[in-house]
Amino acid sequence: MAGDLTRAAAEELLADLVAIPSVNPSLDSAGGGESAIAAFAVQWLRARGLAAQLEEAAPGRPNVHAAAGAGGRDLCLYAHLDTVDAGAMEIDPFAGAVAGGRLYGRGAYDMKGGLAAVLMAAAALAAGGPHGGRLSVALVADEEYASVGADAYVRVHRPAACILTEPTDGRLVLTHKGFVWLEVATRGRAAHGSRWDLGVSAIGRMAPVVAALEAFDRDVLRARQDPLVGPASLHCAVISGGTGVSTYAAQCRLQVERRLLPGESAHAAAAEIERIVRGAAPDAEVAAYFSRPGLVGGMDAPVSRAVLAAAAAVTGTEPTVEGAAYWTDAAIFAEAGIPAVIFGPTGAGAHGSVEWVEVDSVVAVARILVEAARRFWA
Ligand SMILES: [Zn+2]
Repeated sequence: MAGDLTRAAAEELLADLVAIPSVNPSLDSAGGGESAIAAFAVQWLRARGLAAQLEEAAPGRPNVHAAAGAGGRDLCLYAHLDTVDAGAMEIDPFAGAVAGGRLYGRGAYDMKGGLAAVLMAAAALAAGGPHGGRLSVALVADEEYASVGADAYVRVHRPAACILTEPTDGRLVLTHKGFVWLEVATRGRAAHGSRWDLGVSAIGRMAPVVAALEAFDRDVLRARQDPLVGPASLHCAVISGGTGVSTYAAQCRLQVERRLLPGESAHAAAAEIERIVRGAAPDAEVAAYFSRPGLVGGMDAPVSRAVLAAAAAVTGTEPTVEGAAYWTDAAIFAEAGIPAVIFGPTGAGAHGSVEWVEVDSVVAVARILVEAARRFWA
């Protein structure tokens, strides 16, 4: 029923969402992807008066866009449709079992709880008629892998602000880190293992690079602190080189991840790493091959103030305001010029073997979204 923000309604909707597997096929080749859950969401929203449609983010990878109201500022409510795989779970991942006020299953916490809250809030806002604002719903594919869904969404839609309901246990997250990935390559000279006079090991040439990067992380990056998200960091993540024990290694490759503070430039961070690497191995090649910015936000954005005030009004307590170390699609919205905040339900087990969300926290988030939208539009 439209506008029904009750525990019973949340439990029923959540169980339906968990029962539709939406494992990201880029993470697990057996994963069915977002098509079935996207079709369910479109039907669910249409039945409650929203104009909802599928939008293909990539072949076979649909987003859902829905809208209600006209005129005024466009507030977007976001959830991602995909989950990680369920292979190592210790519970039935799709049964939606409920015990002790918790609903269990793959994606219950990350983030079908938030998805249920978005759907319920959208239905309630649409049922309430015009509010002097416009509502958009962004349900996107592929957050758990390459975020093709969010990238595609912001290419087409430009809401005035966005609330993402990734699980935050009732905290308001305004800022988070970004990252840049680099590959470093050193070359040696292949030779028979007995030919010390001819051979040069590329792995040996990489060793001072690893040591220099570790020292840079420890001595320099750890001192760069953001008050909400903590220090910058890097780590040597993957290394490979050599072809056999009796051959001097001709090549060695190292993948490095550098986590960026909010507002830090990926380009500048990569250039800095290149200088460190060159200092340790002048002939090494360094290439940055992928990056995502951090989320830059603050309490000055109207959407931040609306969510804070709404949470205080609904729960009686102001939520904790914090930054996060992990990355989310919020940064894609913010980079597109759309202020974005993260506020979602309570639970545990994201990507883990036992995942659950507290049903009452889903209802609370739905109510807070409704209240935040009214404040944002006022
Ligand atoms: Zn998530």
